[in-house]
Amino acid sequence: MIKSLKISEKGYGALMIKLINELYPICRSITGNGVRNTLKIVNDIIPLTVSEIPSGTKAFDWEVPKEWNINEAYIKDLQGNEIINFKKLNLHVLNYSAAIEGKIPAEELKKHIHTLPDRPDWVPYRTSYYQENWGFCMSHNQFKTLKDDTYEIKIDSTLENGSLTYGEYYIKGETTEEVLISTHICHPSLCNDNLSGISIATYLAHLLSQNRPRYSYRFLFIPGTIGSIVWLSRNEKQTKRIRHGLVITLLGDTSDFTYKRSRRGNAIIDQAVEHYFNSGKVKGRLINFYPYGYDERQYCSPGFNLPVGSLTRNQHGEFPEYHTSADNLNFVHSDKLEESLQAILDILYIIENNNTYINLNPKCEPLLGKRGLYDKIGGGNESKLTQMAALWVLNQSDGSQSLLDIAKRSNTEFRIVREAAEALVECNLLKTTADDKS
Ligand code: ZN
Repeated sequence: MIKSLKISEKGYGALMIKLINELYPICRSITGNGVRNTLKIVNDIIPLTVSEIPSGTKAFDWEVPKEWNINEAYIKDLQGNEIINFKKLNLHVLNYSAAIEGKIPAEELKKHIHTLPDRPDWVPYRTSYYQENWGFCMSHNQFKTLKDDTYEIKIDSTLENGSLTYGEYYIKGETTEEVLISTHICHPSLCNDNLSGISIATYLAHLLSQNRPRYSYRFLFIPGTIGSIVWLSRNEKQTKRIRHGLVITLLGDTSDFTYKRSRRGNAIIDQAVEHYFNSGKVKGRLINFYPYGYDERQYCSPGFNLPVGSLTRNQHGEFPEYHTSADNLNFVHSDKLEESLQAILDILYIIENNNTYINLNPKCEPLLGKRGLYDKIGGGNESKLTQMAALWVLNQSDGSQSLLDIAKRSNTEFRIVREAAEALVECNLLKTTADDKS
């Protein structure tokens, strides 16, 4: 069972920033060596099980695509002056671009260049996974300098039969019931969108592995969409064990939290996050499920309908830096990453400790002093709260109300309700029933 974990003094923010710095230059995509190299680096921190699923493998309505790799790409003028080079910023190439090489009329080239006229200094991130195409991305200001008639271009990439790679990390808990933590690993040099999720998932796994949690934890490091579809298609039986889950990304910027509820809308994870936000420890907003966004779309498809929500700060598409070169190392912050990691630990604390109890002295209130309750909870302000919480726990514990139900109804922080329940158990006034009714 996880007890509250406080992480600030251990410098996890700095560790996560270090990992992000290491992963930032790698050109990731939904397949290829970028993903493999990323998983290798994560593997130095937590031992991953890496799966390679061959191109062409069917996964429900989908198929694992050909594997994409890239060596170099550039645009030069005919004097050999470099306009852009993939080695300086991997966003300069359309992700999954087909190969091309030679001299090309500017008019034709410009049809294959993506820019952001509204943000003329930024380079957009663009993909073309499922439709073969070639292309470059550059800042609009640079695009406007293209005055020549002809340019020399090269994209040295391969799109061949290979495999799709994903990583998995499993922590055995007291039960085989699982908590799923899923993050996507398919974006190239973008920090908040995918590297914040990877770094938090890695260090969350690292922290949990040093404890003996109640639930077993399954961490998925997967390419977005196709990765979760492939994983679900190969682990359908496994999904029956998933009791709670979170898709995590976009957790390093300075905005408040956003929690998107599971499709169920009232899963324990949905209630736990709502209660946590209401406690005022962090600022967060709750939004209902909708079938767009990250991999919660697949986990919450009707055939699975898993109790999986999504935790981010800003939402995808809601901030101007989203999917641009401005989602860079300056856009994510060590203290925000650390706060996000702590928030997830606090949410997991609720899930881990959410038991249901039975009052062993249900006929009228027991004499608490006689049972030594006041000795158990000490003096001070906090103990007054715990006394009140103890009355709530005794009153509500008829086997039908979990501690989270009681915390919500009494408008008391979960941790205090939990501490009251522990004190009551020690006084033989309470006993646990089965696990939470998830
Ligand atoms: Zn994205």
